[in-house]
Amino acid sequence: MSHDDRSIAHASGDDAVAIAGAGPAGLAAAITLARAGRRVVVHEARREVGSRFGADLQGLENWSGHQDVLDELRGAGLSDGFARHGCSDGVAFDAWDRAYALRSPSPMVYVVERGPRPGSLDHALLQQALDLGVELRFGSRVREAGDVSILATGPTHADALAAGYQFETRMANGFWLVLDDALAPGGYAYLLVMNGHGTVKSCMFADFARQHLYVERTVARFRRLVGLDMQAPRFHAGAGNILMPQTAMHGGCAVVGERAGFQDALAGFGMRYAMRSGVLAARALLDGHDYDSLWRQNMAQALCASLVNRALYARFGNRGYRWLLQAQAASGNSRAFLRWLYGHGALSRSLMPWARRRVGGRRAASPDEALLSR
Ligand SMILES: Cc1cc2nc3c(=O)[nH]c(=O)nc-3n(C[C@H](O)[C@H](O)[C@H](O)COP(=O)(O)OP(=O)(O)OC[C@H]3O[C@@H](n4cnc5c(N)ncnc54)[C@H](O)[C@@H]3O)c2cc1C
Repeated sequence: MSHDDRSIAHASGDDAVAIAGAGPAGLAAAITLARAGRRVVVHEARREVGSRFGADLQGLENWSGHQDVLDELRGAGLSDGFARHGCSDGVAFDAWDRAYALRSPSPMVYVVERGPRPGSLDHALLQQALDLGVELRFGSRVREAGDVSILATGPTHADALAAGYQFETRMANGFWLVLDDALAPGGYAYLLVMNGHGTVKSCMFADFARQHLYVERTVARFRRLVGLDMQAPRFHAGAGNILMPQTAMHGGCAVVGERAGFQDALAGFGMRYAMRSGVLAARALLDGHDYDSLWRQNMAQALCASLVNRALYARFGNRGYRWLLQAQAASGNSRAFLRWLYGHGALSRSLMPWARRRVGGRRAASPDEALLSR
């Protein structure tokens, strides 16, 4: 099959659009295509959706844009039929145990469940895709990018690692953070609770070999600071990709979600970009638009700002994190403060080459190789 590298090819002779990966990116693409009347086949390597997450809790960030993320999903025609807890207030601690309120008039983040259980984000998207007639082929691992039109197979590198426990709890719903390199080098430790279920993790950006030490310190700190109540704990860890690709096309294949490196680089939030890029790739295919132009228009500024924020944050250390917590507390609106951090278009662009060198420096592969290595 010959095709222009910039347009998305149809890999199947019978006109079905083939997608690899049934994560949020692949399912968002499938739903968008099916809603437009296209036949879609999604190949998923595992036996069910969200396998790599178990029943983990994650935060759907609600600060990188003005629009509420749930309105964005509804506007894109994606299901919001998943359980969630909108967090308008939380607590963050610095390395000296001082607490700072995280507060905003509207949710900064929606806690959601991942994995195959009913009520999870993955389950809601899967159900919507099936209702629209999308064919899901579980246990079907795609070997070649050229066999599909959309590649949505998740991370290939460990730029960040989140490790800790999932558990049952009697704690009330909420979220708590600790910014301390002794718990999470270059990152943050977090505790999320929703409806009797919790996750506590160290999200680290360096020194992965000592992950168990950071996890145990994280658990001990949350026990001491907020009385972490952890029943039936199950260890869970996963890696994340962070990359600003030069192109998210490979041959005739659109690369979406974390496989393309689309993820908030500061804090490792990838779900929103996964779904957005899936929708954009599907629209590019439906309308014959250039996918690279679409994702750049819709995501590049925030991704670029997040990369600059990450490079700056990595230089901060504990005193810098404390300054950040003080500044956001003084602002009185944590969501608006975070949005401001992502809004420095010109500054971000000018610092981008430096940030790219610092954040991408650990990568042996070039961006294009990173898209395809497995
Ligand atoms: C521990 C942890 C905590 C996180 N917390 C947050 C958070 O709080 N907020 C947030 O926004 N993000 C968070 N993330 C990141 C978020 O989970 C990802 O960015 C998001 O799931 C990416 O979606 P995706 O569809 O691109 O990839 P995935 O969700 O990884 O889905 C990819 C799918 O492709 C399948 N697959 C892989 N290879 C093949 C193949 N060859 N053929 C067919 N199928 C294949 C996989 O089995 C998988 O189902 C976290 C990640 C981890 C690991």
